[in-house]
Amino acid sequence: MSSRVGRVVVTLMILAGSAPATGFAQDLADLRDFDAEIEAALRSAKRAAGFEFLGTLNRICLLPASGRVNTSDNVPRYVRDPSTVPARAVWYAEPAKVFDNLYFVGGKIHTSWALTTSEGIIIIDTTYPYNSEELIIGGLERLGLDPGDIRYVVISHAHGDHIGGAQILQEKYGARVVMGRADWDLVETYPNRYSSMAPERDIVATDGMELTLGNTTLTIWETPGHTPGTLSYTFTVFDDGRPVNVAYSGGTAFNFVNSTPDPGIENFQSYIDAQQHIADRAAATGASVILSNHSEFDNAVNRNRMLAGRGDGPHPYELGEDWVQRYFQVMQGCARAAQLRLEQERAEAGVL
Ligand SMILES: [Zn+2]
Repeated sequence: MSSRVGRVVVTLMILAGSAPATGFAQDLADLRDFDAEIEAALRSAKRAAGFEFLGTLNRICLLPASGRVNTSDNVPRYVRDPSTVPARAVWYAEPAKVFDNLYFVGGKIHTSWALTTSEGIIIIDTTYPYNSEELIIGGLERLGLDPGDIRYVVISHAHGDHIGGAQILQEKYGARVVMGRADWDLVETYPNRYSSMAPERDIVATDGMELTLGNTTLTIWETPGHTPGTLSYTFTVFDDGRPVNVAYSGGTAFNFVNSTPDPGIENFQSYIDAQQHIADRAAATGASVILSNHSEFDNAVNRNRMLAGRGDGPHPYELGEDWVQRYFQVMQGCARAAQLRLEQERAEAGVL
């Protein structure tokens, strides 16, 4: 029986006042075939992923989610004891010019992007504090760009692998830093956790905010889920003068509480709704490129290699609008499957 039919039947029973509350719950558990619903959600995610988005599928559909929120305020080990920083070979990747106005200045695992404009550079995400100077500042220089031109630093969310270089870039170049309100609050709440990577509170992003620098506008979309303040973006790049629209997904893994029905079910709903929001904006702008802040999800490092051997072939980042939509279907399908497991748990526990 479909979940919709199940809900209708239960709703009718509630309206009719035909059974005590625990009876409803038992009925709900009996009426719905949760295993089939979960299987269908997983199948939809797998089908959407194809061979293109296996990293994302693997991370959020197949591997176990953490189910915890970090509430400790400890100085990260890699800040406290630099000898624990992973070896350079683990994270270093070559910088690359990807589009006329978009440059990859990230690492093998965590990515950072430089969007160049007529009035300076917008940096999107900043890797860790221990590698952002080499990857971003060094990368820009190796690509013939001037880090002194950095005007804005846009942080998708306040985790150490993306906010790591924001303080450095703000202090060194006076760059304005943009982040979601809830994630600015995180930085202030946990001063030790963010030591060496806490930019001064600056621009608070809001949904639909347009960040314009010279001839370029990056539009910011609030996509809460991965963190409460996670941001995603849409913007236009150029491939030898031809405009190409990009959707940037700012948070992926299920890092919120997801091990208990309450508030897990609600948290997953925020995540699913947020993915629909950015999917809609991607469709409205005709986005044919999907970028993320992890190479595991957008295959940036492999695509950079393909780009080097592109010749007159298609641009390896340009997947088409349909694939961009499929990316968000993977995220939604995986989140729905996980949400259904919590709904099942709640129904079987006899609580509506
Ligand atoms: Zn994160």
